Parts: sequence; structure tokens; C-alpha cells
Amino acid sequence: MVRRPPPATPSHSPIPQPNSPTDPRRRLGVLGWPVAHSRSPAIQNAALAAAGLHEWRYQLLPVAPELFDETVPALAGAGFAGANVTIPHKQAALALAREASPQARAIGAANTLTFGPAGEIAADNTDAPALIAALPFSVSGRTAMVLGAGGSARAAVWALLDAGAAEVRVWNRTAPRARELAAELGATAADRPGPADVLVNCTAVGLDGSDPFDRLPLEPGDLAGYGCVVDLVYTGAGTILITRAREQGVAVVDGLELLIGQGALSFELFTGRRASIGAMRAAIA
Ligand code: NAP
Repeated sequence: MVRRPPPATPSHSPIPQPNSPTDPRRRLGVLGWPVAHSRSPAIQNAALAAAGLHEWRYQLLPVAPELFDETVPALAGAGFAGANVTIPHKQAALALAREASPQARAIGAANTLTFGPAGEIAADNTDAPALIAALPFSVSGRTAMVLGAGGSARAAVWALLDAGAAEVRVWNRTAPRARELAAELGATAADRPGPADVLVNCTAVGLDGSDPFDRLPLEPGDLAGYGCVVDLVYTGAGTILITRAREQGVAVVDGLELLIGQGALSFELFTGRRASIGAMRAAIA
């Protein structure tokens, strides 16, 4: 189930939207390395078509980390109105921006960049509101267990605490990163994942189709200890983590639902138009 996220309300001074007939910026894309697996072009091009923005195009933008800082400022001049940002660039994206929303600054990572006509860069983070909107219940007063300490884990921890979670615990393969993230954002570092109302997998485990129970300190039976299992990872056939949770009757939110939720919010920042969730869903069904 994809629940419509609330409308994006960027609280920084928004860079002008490139929708006037005289503004030639009609290009969008997703910056990543690697990025070939991304379904963002499919959902975003479907939303552009549904909104009647037929001159717009959304494409993959594979950019190596060492070229990120010099490539991104050139995008506006190449006709780009904005870009999504995925692994491993989310922190670098925030650092490049002239303006950033308070949530992107607090999270320390951006997944959405918008470009002004003179190349000004504004950063936002739509991963955080999309996660909260996708959960089947309010996390206010509840507990959460977050796996991972990368850019998406930062967004998840911040979002859960901002939404009123009573406690957010963080486990990561590299434990010092979990401790650092937890200390910075007000969460608790955990030696092992334990039961909670919500489990959020923010590691890259499962992306290559491998069994997450080989790499994470979890057994399939542990999933019954959560009220909802969220997997940020998405694969064509669905991830093993989500399949095992479903088998045990646990509520789930899969990575494609989150992709659509964050993508719809980014679309609105890029174009000033609402995204068709139905068109996005149909594009990856
Ligand atoms: P990231 O910053 O590169 O962080 C990767 C995380 O995965 C780190 O915590 C890392 O642990 C952990 N990890 C990697 N390989 C591991 C392994 N073999 N065993 C245990 N842990 C491992 O990436 P990110 O931006 O947070 O993204 C993480 C995943 O979420 C990616 O698969 C991404 O595609 C997905 N994602 C999906 C959406 C969506 O809309 N569905 C949005 C954002 C992200 P260490 O610190 O120990 O290296």
C-alpha cells in the first residue's frame, strides 16, 4: 500500500521553479554510483507524462564520487532543473548546496537538489517524510530499530524521532558509525537488533538478491518481534526480508513504496506540480 505523503513544504527560500515557457530547463535525473539499478527514471517519467510535462525528461546520471563536486554545478547549464541523489552522494549533495531545508541540514544528507537558472543549488530530503507517511501506524510514543548508519539511516532516525518515537535504536555492521550517528541525532546505539514496534532496514543488504539473514544479526523468526518491517532496499521480485516478514503476518513497507513516496515529494519540488501516485505505481508494477 502506498499512502500519499503530505505535500512537500520546503521551508528554505525555494529556488524559482523552471516551468515558464522562457526557461529551457526541462531535464531531471538521479545522481548515483552505481545507479543503473534505480527505478527513479521509470516512476518520474511516468509522473511527468501524467502531468502533461511532455518536454521534460528524467534520466540516470552515473557520476563517480571524485567527479561529483565538479559535475553537479554544471547541470543547471546543461538544462537540468533538479536531481535526486542516491548512494553514495547524499552527504556530498548537502555540502554542495547554497540553501538547504532544515530537515536536510538536521539529517546531514540530501536526496533532492533543485537548480536555479544561475546554477544555485538548493537541497532537501524527502526520504524522511516519505518514511513516516508510509508507516501503517503513528510512531508517536513507539520504539524503532534502525539497521545501518549511512545516509538513509540518518534520514530514518531523524524522521522517527521527529515524528515522536519514544526510542530509536541503531545497529550497524561498523559499530562506531552507529554510535556516532546515535549520539548526533539523539538515538541509542545497539549491539544487536532487538524487538521494537518498527524495524527499518537502511543497509544495502539484500540489494544484490542475497539472503539478508546471512549478513545481518537477525533470524527470520525474529521478525515476529516487530509491529512493522520496513525495507528500504528494493528488488524486482521483492526482498527476502519483506517476504519473510509477510509470511509471519507482520505489516510491511517495501522499498518501492518508499521510492514512490520520496519520488512524489521530489517531483513536486522539481516541477511545482503534484505527482500522480497511480502513474508511478503503474510504471513499476
Ligand atoms: P550508504 O550510505 O552507502 O550506507 C550503506 C549501509 O549499508 C551502511 O550502514 C553499511 O554498513 C551497510 N552495509 C553495506 N553492506 C553491508 C553488509 N554486507 N552487511 C551489513 N551492512 C552492510 O547507503 P544509503 O544511502 O544509506 O542506502 C542504503 C540502502 O537503502 C541502499 O540499498 C539504497 O538503495 C536504499 N535506499 C532506498 C530508498 C528508497 O526510496 N527505497 C531510499 C534511500 C536508500 P557499514 O557502515 O558497516 O559499511
